[in-house]
Amino acid sequence: MRAMVLESFGAPLQLRELPDPEPGPGDAVVRVQACGVCASDLKIVSGALTGTPLPHVPGHEIAGVVSAVGSGVSSPRVGERVACYFYLSCNRCLNCRTGRGTVCLALAGRIGFEVDGGLGELVRVPAALCLPVSDGVPPEAAAVAMDAIATPYHAIVTRGRLAPGETAAIVGVGGLGLHAVELAHAVGARVIAIDVDEGRLTLARELGADQTVRIDSAGCLPHAPLVDFVLDTAVSAQTLLGDVALLRPGGRLALVGYKPGLGACWDTADLVLNEITVLPSRAAGLDECRRVLDLLAMGRIRAVVDRRYALQDVNQAFDALRGGMLNGRAVVAL
Ligand SMILES: [Zn+2]
Ligand SMILES: [Zn+2]
Repeated sequence: MRAMVLESFGAPLQLRELPDPEPGPGDAVVRVQACGVCASDLKIVSGALTGTPLPHVPGHEIAGVVSAVGSGVSSPRVGERVACYFYLSCNRCLNCRTGRGTVCLALAGRIGFEVDGGLGELVRVPAALCLPVSDGVPPEAAAVAMDAIATPYHAIVTRGRLAPGETAAIVGVGGLGLHAVELAHAVGARVIAIDVDEGRLTLARELGADQTVRIDSAGCLPHAPLVDFVLDTAVSAQTLLGDVALLRPGGRLALVGYKPGLGACWDTADLVLNEITVLPSRAAGLDECRRVLDLLAMGRIRAVVDRRYALQDVNQAFDALRGGMLNGRAVVAL
């Protein structure tokens, strides 16, 4: 099979011919139709994350068609359309048993991070992590659902418990933030989108933002009316301070962005005296991914895909993402 391979950190991916993956017991092999491009891929490619073996095939927002299954697999079947959940959680530990598989105590890795992912024609995944995709949901939407939609779903619905009638500020409306706007709007909240880019803010309004606020590239947040809930997808020293300043006393701050080495810099008096709840939020669980696919099938939200690339052009997608050029997700279509 052809795949885009990371051979050394900081270098572009290389198109290579690799042996086709074979399904082991309990596995499926999926012929990839679409793979989303995520800011985490930039961290993987640059070597900012530990644990990535080389050579490595990145790509963790995967949808396609099952091409083979290993022994003991009754579902999915060969030919079935699926999206692939990418956390290799144990499904047995305390956290897994309470729906928190992304902080599994025995996590075996993640597809596209520590094991080979979807930027190739075929990918091997545990069959139990393959979620069925309905006919009305195109491959690119199913792919993007696994992270760019499911991650804000986890932050907004599960962690943040955003309620109808509350006001939510979404800080940074890139690939995750635009879907966060849609989800917060669908919940019934009043939504304020905050970003440096006017084009993305225009799109945010189309997706349900009631108000948009443009900030300068230093990321200093405005003093706006106080909100009940902030979701920060950008996460810089400036936005972290601004997030707390935006919250009413008793408000909740969910963080889905992160940068290794960047510490939080809050005044403990601001947090404690205002009883601010900080909710770090890591990706989403398998069931949440299933629910997001249902929301897409029902037409309650839509996947926001800006640009499509051929497999061999994925480095251009990385450049576009790195340069802040995208209004929505970039997807590699195979
Ligand atoms: Zn991601
Ligand atoms: Zn576990």
